[in-house]
Amino acid sequence: MKKDYYEVLGVSKTASQDEIKSAFRKLAKKYHPDVSKEENAAEKFKECQEAYAILSDENKRKQYDQYGHAAFNNNGAGGYDFSGFDFSDIFSDLFGSNFGFNFGGNSNRKSRGRDRIIRVDLDFEEAVFGTKKTINLDAYGECDSCHGKGGFDEEVCSNCHGTGVVTAEQRTLFGSFMTKTTCPKCGGKGRSYKKTCSKCSGLGKVKVNKDIEVKVPAGVDTGNQQRIAGYGEYGNGGNGDLYLEYRVRKHELFERDGNDVYLELPLTITEAILGCKKEIPTLSGNVKLTIEAGSNTGDKLRLKGKGIEDVHSYRKGDMYVVLKVIMPNKLSRDQKKLFEQLSKTDLETKAFDRFNKYMKK
Ligand SMILES: [Zn+2]
Ligand SMILES: [Zn+2]
Repeated sequence: MKKDYYEVLGVSKTASQDEIKSAFRKLAKKYHPDVSKEENAAEKFKECQEAYAILSDENKRKQYDQYGHAAFNNNGAGGYDFSGFDFSDIFSDLFGSNFGFNFGGNSNRKSRGRDRIIRVDLDFEEAVFGTKKTINLDAYGECDSCHGKGGFDEEVCSNCHGTGVVTAEQRTLFGSFMTKTTCPKCGGKGRSYKKTCSKCSGLGKVKVNKDIEVKVPAGVDTGNQQRIAGYGEYGNGGNGDLYLEYRVRKHELFERDGNDVYLELPLTITEAILGCKKEIPTLSGNVKLTIEAGSNTGDKLRLKGKGIEDVHSYRKGDMYVVLKVIMPNKLSRDQKKLFEQLSKTDLETKAFDRFNKYMKK
């Protein structure tokens, strides 16, 4: 059975961060394997470190409070891997600022580069049908001067004699003891170069401004992000990723709602009253539409499957044609005559009944 983290540090479940920190400092002093005379000091020290790594992190503490040890049981043996945890602020004030104890054997910690985001503007059609875009960015590529090695004339590291580790005597207020640290000269590789590459300062990688071609899938909409793996910031544990966030410009005619497309279709009064055949533009070419006699502003006609292809499911949305009857604002003499004739006929429909009912006779 694994011991409760709060019990390990000897604090209550409601302990503040300060209480947790001070409890850990006391225990670290007591059990540090290089200074402790206690039995099983190393084991106890590790136990405290683990408990502190969890409880000093508000998020991990919450997870632990909710799920117990099960929250961190994902690496086989059932222990939380705290080798990446930075204890340096605690140990530097406990043991002196140059204290070089190598926790978990991985002081030369590798970290992944940060992700980054670039906003890309697309025309309506580019978003609907997909397109290719050229993105100009600073990316890391292999240094061509040293071919990624970081230097010239490889040799066994003279500082650590190829072991990657150096031993140093540490003097602290608890006495002096030997500590092992990663060799600062070769970074733990055991090999170094007589000459450091000046072009990349030994990194093996250089920043190059380049164009990358990206295939934008059909159906993307404003706010959609596309991940381009490996084009984020540089990190010695691998580059981060690049995210392209799309912003789609408005179309003059079509309006988009998810994967559906709306088109406002202007009609003359006679087209609306008598009905007609109308050729209209859609995303996939012109289409002939039948407008029923007696159509009105706001009537909606659905063209199934004439919308936008979904970026994930490839299912197509629909197109809606919304009618708008436009009143003529200038009439010729002949047209005016026709309307005058028309006005002598009864054009009232059922819609007028309710109104007429309330008119005083
Ligand atoms: Zn070395
Ligand atoms: Zn180089």
